[in-house]
Amino acid sequence: MSLLTLNERVLKLGSSATLAMKARAKALTDRGISVMTLSAGEPDFDTPQVIKEAAKKALDKGISRYTGVRGSDDLIHAMRIKFERDQKVRYDASQVLSTVGAKSAISQAIDALIGAGDEVIVFSPYWVSYTELISLAGGTPVLVHASKEQGYVPTPEQLRAAITPRTKAIILNSPNNPSGAVFSEAALRGLMDVVKDSKIWVISDEIYEHLLFDNVKHVSPASFSDDAYSRTLVITGASKAYAMTGWRVGVVGGPKELVGAMVKLQEQRYTCIATVAQAACAYALLEPPEVKAEIEKMRQAYEMRRNKTLEIVASMPGVTCFKPQGAFYVLLDFSSITKDDQVLADRLLDEAHVALVAGSAFGVPGTVRMSLASSMETITEGLTRIRKWL
Ligand code: PMP
Ligand code: GLU
Repeated sequence: MSLLTLNERVLKLGSSATLAMKARAKALTDRGISVMTLSAGEPDFDTPQVIKEAAKKALDKGISRYTGVRGSDDLIHAMRIKFERDQKVRYDASQVLSTVGAKSAISQAIDALIGAGDEVIVFSPYWVSYTELISLAGGTPVLVHASKEQGYVPTPEQLRAAITPRTKAIILNSPNNPSGAVFSEAALRGLMDVVKDSKIWVISDEIYEHLLFDNVKHVSPASFSDDAYSRTLVITGASKAYAMTGWRVGVVGGPKELVGAMVKLQEQRYTCIATVAQAACAYALLEPPEVKAEIEKMRQAYEMRRNKTLEIVASMPGVTCFKPQGAFYVLLDFSSITKDDQVLADRLLDEAHVALVAGSAFGVPGTVRMSLASSMETITEGLTRIRKWL
């Protein structure tokens, strides 16, 4: 037996259910099996050519050295413009930061805020990594479940009931992964009113802000009031809207004190993010008309795929689903057939060769999450296989 031991918290860290399923589906595909992969929360589109050109130009100009921790001057400028345009909040250069994907923004925000015994309120359904990252930091995730009947949107009363003297932060995620719920402005205001004048921070994960259906508009809770502005950290990034998952760019804006603490962490951990990715993102965030057109093309494709999915699911006996208005996921509810969604996801992969993610990983047992970030053919064939298998 080895005398070497690992950190207890790392030993307890779960693996990402979404990335694990992506790897399992790939392993089957690599063996020559035709798998309908509806598990990945990752655009199936290539990064728009105009964004790639911006990156190539930057390389040709010799942009290849460390930048400041927050990012290059161009990227800082673009992040500030972006927040003013989309979140309707003004941040100065000391309030923004680029990170290694939104994922590291979330983990650095948690590390900057959370110590042993601190509680973070996480609304369920929730994205898989929040709870693991809170536990890794020594904190306790406190789950508040919003049911399908309430449109997966929590109420102010539910939030109020979960707050204790140890509550350090809440995490909001609208449009939501995995439910696709978009919290209305009134719902967000109701939640923000509960934490008003308290010592509770708000981490608002707005990574799906551009992916909205049915003419719904994005609102950021940071814009509601001076109180909201001073307690809210906005996290977004290039992965979803610009189909740039592999470039790893997260974009953060918020109170100077918190962003400054994250900068301190990032300085010791990563120095800065890759400069070629910074250049591509600085261009994309300004959203010139050619980028806007690409975003809209992809958004429309997701909306059409959502519509098709709802149509097919309506004809599946025993399966229901909530109509998502944002992001690119549909939660398929199998609870009238089985409660064991992990066995269901395993069997659908092994027997029907359709890759989905078990809902328990997101706090919604009895469901599986299907991604709309696959071609219409893959979605149609995947759902047809599920129907036959049922
Ligand atoms: N937040 C949510 C809700 C997500 O679904 C994802 C997807 N990976 C992320 C954050 C992280 O995105 P990334 O690290 O690729 O920017
Ligand atoms: N966010 C995506 C998902 O939920 C990508 C994978 C991950 O980072 O979890 O599937």
